[in-house]
Amino acid sequence: MARIPYTIDTFPVTLDANAVNALPVAKIKEGWHVGSPGMGCFLDAPGFPSYYLQPVYDARGNTPRGAPGAVLRGTDGAYHVVDTLRGRDALLRSLYLPLPVDHPRVQAWIGEVARHMAHCYPDWTPGSVEALEGLASEKPACWWETADEKPSPETCPGDRSINRPHTAAHCQWCGI
Ligand SMILES: [Zn+2]
Repeated sequence: MARIPYTIDTFPVTLDANAVNALPVAKIKEGWHVGSPGMGCFLDAPGFPSYYLQPVYDARGNTPRGAPGAVLRGTDGAYHVVDTLRGRDALLRSLYLPLPVDHPRVQAWIGEVARHMAHCYPDWTPGSVEALEGLASEKPACWWETADEKPSPETCPGDRSINRPHTAAHCQWCGI
């Protein structure tokens, strides 16, 4: 799912700016462009760097020879190289500032993972963690991936990245 790129003013609280800025600066050649953020991030923890990784494309939408596998924007305004193959997980982890486990974003993510598990494996139960059952029964929502707080129905922007505005019937972003 494509996401809106962050700006320097809205640099994610879950990214270590110094560590991102210390990565090699990517050379984006003429004719290349940087795609929407979000690479291999399905069910990753809230604000994990995978949500912010951006692919590099040529005019035909292919990955150009010699281009970085993915880039991350630093607070210096530059795109930095993230190798998506070897050692990707360790590298992303080194850029990550996890939220506390009792943070609302983390709790919403746990509910989403529980719901996903229950959907894929109907016989699976959260076991002794009874709170998961309550979380998993809430409606699907994905605000926690990149937003700091769950929006109210009045303030919800909807899922702008896929052009789906908030509706009272069902909103994928806030889960109302
Ligand atoms: Zn909404």
